[in-house]
Amino acid sequence: MDSLPCEWACGCPVCESVKQNGIPVIDAMSVEDLKRHFLICRKLEILRVQRNIDDELDSVEAVAEWIEARSLPGVIPVGIGARLSSWAASVRRLV
Ligand SMILES: [Zn+2]
Repeated sequence: MDSLPCEWACGCPVCESVKQNGIPVIDAMSVEDLKRHFLICRKLEILRVQRNIDDELDSVEAVAEWIEARSLPGVIPVGIGARLSSWAASVRRLV
């Protein structure tokens, strides 16, 4: 979350309160903050999927491609981009 470009940074109130240079600083969050962030994001994700799942899957694929194009050892686990792409393709086959 704190390693993606700032245009993809989470805009929830929790993350907004800990942003530095447009990117949320996870280390500045308490466990309760992280829980609130995940609950807010889950709700927003569900609303986006209900509104237009293709747009949401396009967004997932864009993030996957960005991750796959970079090597971020110790920041983003190896294979996450490929897993996101696979997940998006699987969901597209179901909808
Ligand atoms: Zn957030």
